[in-house]
Amino acid sequence: MRFSVTPFDLALVVPFTTAHATVSSRSGMLVTVIDGGHVGHGEVSPMPGWSPIDTDRAGALLLSSITAVDAGRDFDDVLDDLEDAPEVRAGLAGAVADFAARRRGLSLAQFLDPDALTSVAVNAVVGSGAPVQSAATAREAVGRGFATIKMKVGVESPEIDIRRVAEVREAIGPGVELRLDANGGWSARDAQRVLDAVALYDISFCEEPVSGIDAIAALGASSPIPLAVDESARTVDDVARALGTGAIDVVVIKPQAIGGPDLAMRAVRLALEFGATPVVTTMIDSGVGVRHALHVAAAAGLPLAHGLATAAMLAEDLAEPLRIIDGVITLGTESGLGVTLP
Ligand SMILES: [Mg+2]
Repeated sequence: MRFSVTPFDLALVVPFTTAHATVSSRSGMLVTVIDGGHVGHGEVSPMPGWSPIDTDRAGALLLSSITAVDAGRDFDDVLDDLEDAPEVRAGLAGAVADFAARRRGLSLAQFLDPDALTSVAVNAVVGSGAPVQSAATAREAVGRGFATIKMKVGVESPEIDIRRVAEVREAIGPGVELRLDANGGWSARDAQRVLDAVALYDISFCEEPVSGIDAIAALGASSPIPLAVDESARTVDDVARALGTGAIDVVVIKPQAIGGPDLAMRAVRLALEFGATPVVTTMIDSGVGVRHALHVAAAAGLPLAHGLATAAMLAEDLAEPLRIIDGVITLGTESGLGVTLP
């Protein structure tokens, strides 16, 4: 088994600002494994302001990990050493999972779970902004066939967010699922106030209303809307702890950020055991990472929308962007990730 690494830097259509950095491109490494006529691909692209390591550190760890495997070290032991570098683990584990699926003639989704779905619904995202603008974006997405809208909140004032939610619900009508994501931007008081005020607009859940598993769980006891953890639960252990509180109903899982498809599936199964809902999203990955997330979402097997419609944020990509038709991505019949790279 031979690994190769190809660096990439993909420009974003519009730069965006996180709490820690302004990001104008997604940079990282494509990991390819080749053996006996089969190939597998994984992606390593830490997100500035989110990931525990930067791209340079990830690149160094990736190369030293491959050197260790080449020298005969057990692959699982190498992965175990990457606990603090989940994106690097995801790239290596992802490439080998894609490879193993292709060798067996299965899609990666079927390889992860034999009962995997063959198509996955995806949500559209409405960013922060004025109520009229949010409503227009949501209406336009529904016009393109999306049946689930995820709306960013917590940036504007609570009063404006309440108006935004009201106007978006009015714009999309009653049949479209509406989710909120505050990215931990509210105080506990503001969160309670907004959630109480918007409960009548049929919100399916709110991600990260406040920051931290304990704070979200505390709010969960009195929230009229189900709550989700995302950035507060970054590891399988975090997910277990969040679910163990009994006050968190939805777990957002980013396969690259949690360490790869195997660990993502562990988090998915934990959520299902607890009667919670796993929702899979990308980290604005390239076409390789988005496909990894797509196959994990299909393997999760639930008929709900996942956060995979991020390719349009990239001005260029490693692979043909997945086609979204009426808010649904259909998996191809090819094995593995179903992608051939140049
Ligand atoms: Mg989120």
